[in-house]
Amino acid sequence: MARRILRLRGIVQGVGFRPFVYRLALELGLHGSCWNDADGLVIDVEGAVAALDALDERIRRSPPPRAVVERLETEDAPPAGHRTFSIAGSDGRAPASARVSPDLATCPACLAEMGDARDRRFGYPFINCVDCGPRYSIARDVPYDRARTTMSRFEMCAACRGEYADPRSRRFHAQPNACPACGPRVFIEGAPATPAVAEAVGALRRGAIVAVKGLGGFHLACDARQAAAVARLRERKRRPHKPFAVMFPRLEALRRDAEVDAAAAGVLSGSRRPIVLLPLRPDTELGPGVAPRLHEIGAFLPYTPLHHLLMQSFDGPLVMTSGNLSEEPIAATNEEARRRLGGIADLFLLHDRDIHMRADDSVVRVLLGAERVLRRARGHVPEAFALGFEAPAVLAVGADLKNTLCLAAGGAATLGQHVGDLDSYEAQSFFDEVRHNLQRLLRVEPRLVAHDLHPGYHSTAIAARLGLPAVAVQHHHAHIASCLVDNGRLGPVLGVAWDGTGYGPDASIWGGEFLVADLAGFERVGRIRPVAMPGGDAAVREPWRLALAHLMAAGLPTDRVSQAGRATVEAMVRERVNVVDTSSAGRLFDAVASLAGLCDVTSYEGQAAMELEAASADRTLDGYPFPIVEGPLLELDPRPLIRAIVHDLARGADLATIGGRFHRALADAIAVACEALRKRHGLGSVALSGGCFQSRLLTTLTVERLARDGFEVLLHSRVPPNDGGIALGQAAVAAWRNREP
Ligand SMILES: [Zn+2]
Ligand SMILES: [Zn+2]
Repeated sequence: MARRILRLRGIVQGVGFRPFVYRLALELGLHGSCWNDADGLVIDVEGAVAALDALDERIRRSPPPRAVVERLETEDAPPAGHRTFSIAGSDGRAPASARVSPDLATCPACLAEMGDARDRRFGYPFINCVDCGPRYSIARDVPYDRARTTMSRFEMCAACRGEYADPRSRRFHAQPNACPACGPRVFIEGAPATPAVAEAVGALRRGAIVAVKGLGGFHLACDARQAAAVARLRERKRRPHKPFAVMFPRLEALRRDAEVDAAAAGVLSGSRRPIVLLPLRPDTELGPGVAPRLHEIGAFLPYTPLHHLLMQSFDGPLVMTSGNLSEEPIAATNEEARRRLGGIADLFLLHDRDIHMRADDSVVRVLLGAERVLRRARGHVPEAFALGFEAPAVLAVGADLKNTLCLAAGGAATLGQHVGDLDSYEAQSFFDEVRHNLQRLLRVEPRLVAHDLHPGYHSTAIAARLGLPAVAVQHHHAHIASCLVDNGRLGPVLGVAWDGTGYGPDASIWGGEFLVADLAGFERVGRIRPVAMPGGDAAVREPWRLALAHLMAAGLPTDRVSQAGRATVEAMVRERVNVVDTSSAGRLFDAVASLAGLCDVTSYEGQAAMELEAASADRTLDGYPFPIVEGPLLELDPRPLIRAIVHDLARGADLATIGGRFHRALADAIAVACEALRKRHGLGSVALSGGCFQSRLLTTLTVERLARDGFEVLLHSRVPPNDGGIALGQAAVAAWRNREP
């Protein structure tokens, strides 16, 4: 006989761990108890040594499906003579390092009950269990217990309380446990007695726009097959082109409109339920208004019981876009939705369970056999990343577009959910909300702040106001550092950081960079030869300005550009008035998209590159010339590339060819540059990061070519390659430089 105390850390609360241990203890004949504490889960257990070993083994080998055991410590103790095994309540002591789980999609067992007319939760939109339901979005504090969630105001009925207290029930300690007798309810704004789901479905069929309160915030929904409804939503939301996400009732229904391979099907049906970018089928019934000029669609499946009820009844694809106005954060409270979405939605489908922490849908694509996160929010946050070293408490404030923030402490870094564009007051308030919430849930009080080098960023100003010792991290270094953490590496590595814009230490705009980097620092070893970016931010929204700058740099006639402001901008470039130089790859995409006649002015970030990719052929024989000029700083010269494109345009080449040859040229040039840099620096690993590597085509071609040349390629998977990953890179760099011995 022996006694052991096991301490588990990680995502071990709110995922059915205690009933799992209870059942194991009964099975193995062990006695004692287990409870949640501030750091995770404690198991105090005694019995035969072989049974204790078996318990240890089973916990390590096959923990509950949603659990993540980050650490398991075991200590021997003198036997105490326990006669039973019991589950004790949370001890409630601070501080806490146990993590709240991300929100989980409705599980098959709950779905089956919801569809069973004899079940007491038949058709109940808030059914959940230990394997599914809200977590992060309702947790106000830790330890994760009902009293510390937004479910605290719903008193459980006797039947629900019985399940909650029964270790054999799959609702044992399911904190959001509820039923029609005691739990939250849905209703139509202004008509509380109307059958809510039926009313909403009727309105959607008539072409109305319905605001639907969900798990992490509001969606704006309309019938994806009614072009007029989609156009109305675009107009009211002031979002002319950016693609809308579409929710499908079932996987089989989605297969009629998009190509879904086995890997994508797994991601679509998993417990995180992100929006997955998928190739549209040529015979799709969705109108072009859903994703204008793109051949991909962001699709997802129902992930709350309310979605399931809505989709079963509607039985067709619904546009389900974030409930906000253009780039503002998603709305979360009923009052906020009425105020902010009143001018957009015709009907409000509400419920009375409060959303404590709003979170947008995550967006991913499946590429080269793995899920690649492009927007990290619901279903992923607040899962942590292992750093591989002991970090001091660091807050990283991220970048200004696609903002996220990150908290690092101990051996882990936690990336907060997508906040968005920090330009608005609403977004900056949301940033503060996420920061305070994560600091409370993780019990981390930062003593360092990490920020971008850009002096004009809102995030840099936010960092300055905190009054903490600050660490400035260069934008592209942060990109490569985030890719290292995503891959569990420390570097050094050859980093290819290609994106739209990032502030360089020389005060020019970088974005087509080759770095030798590790977490400690970086050296810029290569770049795209800079061109003038006329008009600063205006050039970002108006690709034709970059087309003009590249034509001038290549010594070509500029009459190909037909915009009214051409002469002025030409003079700006010639006389270097209101221009800044840029080595940005994203701006090169802009220039080529404009030259090819695709996109002269954009309405959302990345539009030109996305439309160019959509128009491109996947496979072509040859890329355009994009030669390397060796020197202390290796340079890729875009002038021959631009000349070749103009030549192709003049002889009437089609867009698919031009786009295909352009992407091939970039991939080949990256590989040739990496080969030259491998000779100089002796590094055989290449990390690809930055917004350009959201592109399926560019990433695939580049990885194929690098792999053929014998490089190890590090790609992003759990962290976005775009600026949504910057905060993690900043945190890792600042933490490494100030790491604990
Ligand atoms: Zn369930
Ligand atoms: Zn109940």
